[in-house]
Amino acid sequence: VGKRAKREERKAEREAVAAARATVEAATEAARWEQVLAEIRAQRCPSCGSATVSRLGYGLPRFTEAFKSALDADLIILAGCSFANDDPVWICRECKHTWGRLFPD
Ligand SMILES: [Zn+2]
Repeated sequence: VGKRAKREERKAEREAVAAARATVEAATEAARWEQVLAEIRAQRCPSCGSATVSRLGYGLPRFTEAFKSALDADLIILAGCSFANDDPVWICRECKHTWGRLFPD
């Protein structure tokens, strides 16, 4: 086997490893998202009992397709780039009550 062929072989190997890793990462990301969305859907407003609860998103998010569809569904509402420790995590779209703490003590 020539040097060139070996180099090609190693390149193909590296690409296969990278592709496998990307697949695993995409699956992990999707599973993580499902967890986040399930957590949001499970929330009930402690003030009025409504299930129309959104998670407040702070900072600059990564606008993935999953993130955009969560925004479209109002599951996540962007709350701006700056945030403080006692900013709320949840908001009721029914009565506007907010609760939870971004960084619990
Ligand atoms: Zn409410």
